[in-house]
Amino acid sequence: MLAVVATVMVFVLGLNQLQSAHPAVVNFDLVVTNGRIVDGTGNPWFRADIGIKDGRIARIGKIDPAHGSRSIDAKGQVVAPGFIDVHTHVESIYSLPAAENFVRMGVTSLVTGNCGSSATDVGQFLGRIKEKPLAVNLATLIAHGSVRREAMGSNDRVPTPEETKKMEALVEQGMKDGAVGLSTGLIYVPGTYAKTEEITNLARIVARYGGIYATHMRNEGEFVADAIRESIQIGEQAGLPVEISHFKISSKKMWGQTPMTIGLVRDARARGLMITVDQYVYTASSTSLDSRLPTWLRAGGPEEGKKRLADKATREQVIKEMKEALKRSGFKDYSYARVANYQTDKSFNGKSIAEITKQAVGKSDVSNQIEQILTMYESGGAGMVYHSMNEDDVQRILREPFTMIASDSGVREVDESVPHPRGNGNNARVLGRYVRELHLLSLEDAIRKMTSLPAQTFGFRDRGLVREGFAADLVIFDEKVVGDRATFEMPHQYPAGISYVLVNGGLVLANNEMSGERPGQALRHSNN
Ligand SMILES: [Zn+2]
Repeated sequence: MLAVVATVMVFVLGLNQLQSAHPAVVNFDLVVTNGRIVDGTGNPWFRADIGIKDGRIARIGKIDPAHGSRSIDAKGQVVAPGFIDVHTHVESIYSLPAAENFVRMGVTSLVTGNCGSSATDVGQFLGRIKEKPLAVNLATLIAHGSVRREAMGSNDRVPTPEETKKMEALVEQGMKDGAVGLSTGLIYVPGTYAKTEEITNLARIVARYGGIYATHMRNEGEFVADAIRESIQIGEQAGLPVEISHFKISSKKMWGQTPMTIGLVRDARARGLMITVDQYVYTASSTSLDSRLPTWLRAGGPEEGKKRLADKATREQVIKEMKEALKRSGFKDYSYARVANYQTDKSFNGKSIAEITKQAVGKSDVSNQIEQILTMYESGGAGMVYHSMNEDDVQRILREPFTMIASDSGVREVDESVPHPRGNGNNARVLGRYVRELHLLSLEDAIRKMTSLPAQTFGFRDRGLVREGFAADLVIFDEKVVGDRATFEMPHQYPAGISYVLVNGGLVLANNEMSGERPGQALRHSNN
C-alpha cells in the first residue's frame, strides 16, 4: 500500500516537473485562433481555430492557443485556403525560390508549363525542388510547343511519323513523371503550326493518365468562337477535361460578345464535357511583341524571321497583313500596345508603340508604327502589355461559376521593366475591387474560385479547402483592407491586407514579412 502511494507521488511530482519545464501540453506545431474561416467550398464563413501538425490541418474547432508551439491570433481576419494559381509561367522559379510576388498575393501553389511552353523533362524539373527548396508548391503541365520544338524544331509543317512518335514519347514520359496535363499555345511558334489532329492525338495520351488539356487558344479576337470550338472538339474527341487559359475577348470589334463565348462553354458542359476557364482581372493582356506579326513570318525562329524581313516584297506583305489584322481587331492604331520590357532600349519601357514612333520619326501614323514594331522585332523583340479588353466582358467572365482566378505571371523581381500588374495584384484585386468595392462576387465565392475549384480541376486532392487532414496551406487577410496596389504605371507594388501565408504548415509570410522559409512541395499528378 505504501509502495503504491509512493509511486503515485513520484508520478505526480514527475508531471509537475514536466509542466514547469513546458507550461502546457503541446499538441500542435501552430494554432491559428479566432479567425473567420472561409473554407474554400463557397459556404458562408464560420468562426473556429485551426490546429496544425506536421504540415497538415490536424483539427478545426475550439483550440487553446497554449496547445501550439506557436500561435497566431487571427481576430478580425479571414482565414482561407492558400490560393492556387493554375496559370503561371515560372520556369525560372529556382532562381527566385521565394516567389515573393505570389506569396504576397496569398498564392501557395502554382501550375506552370502553360501556353505551350514548359520543361520537357518534367521529372528533372520537379525533382530540383529537393536541392533547391521553394517557398510555394509547384506543379507543371507538359507543353505541346516545347515538345514539338524538341522533336522537329520551329518548322511550319506537319510532323513526320517519326517526329510524331518522338512527341508522343515525350508527352507520355511527362505524364508518367507527374505532369498535370498538356498545354498548348496556338498563337506561338511552334504551336501555331499544329493542326487540330496533332493536338488531339497527344491529348489522347494525356487522357489515359487522367490529365487535363489547358489551352492558350488559336484566337482570342475575331475568330474566338472557332478557337473555343476547336478546344471543345479536342476535349470531346480525346476524352479529357479542358481548361481555356486566360479566357477573354481581345479585339475591340468583338467587345460585348462574352455571352456568346460563355454560351459555347456552357453548352459543352451541358453535353457532359468537363470544361472550365481561368482569368486575370484586368482589361489588358501581356505577351510578346512578335504575337502581332504573321505566324508564317516567324517560322524557324526570330533569325529566320529577320532574314525574311530583309526581302523588300516580303516586308511589304507583312505590313499589308498587319494593317489588315489591326483593322479587323477594331483598333485604329497601336496606341493600345505598351512596352513592358525592351532590352535594347529600356527608355521604351512603359511607353506605347504610338508614343515611341512619334518620338523616333516625329509622326505616328500606322505605317510608321508598324515599321517601329518590325525594327524592335529585328532588335530582339519585346515584352508587351496590350490594352485590348472591355471591363463588361471581364466581369461577365468573372461571374461564371466555372471561372477560376489565375495570374498568367512569372516570378517577379523589382527591376526596370514595366510589366503587367497582374503578377503583383491579381488575387488581391479580386478580393478588393470585385468583392468589396463592386460586390460582383461574395467573398466566399471569390475564394472558391482561387482554391477548391482549381484544386478539383487540376487534381490536387488534399488542397484547396480548410479541412482536417488537408495540407496546411493557408492565407490570413483583412477583408476590409485587402486589395491590389500594383498599377500599369507602377506595377512593382505588393498588395495590401495580406498578413500571413502558410505553405504545408510553414510560415512563409509572417506579420507582413517574408520569413525565408521554403516549405514548398512538388505536386505530381496521381492517376489512380
Ligand atoms: Zn497564354
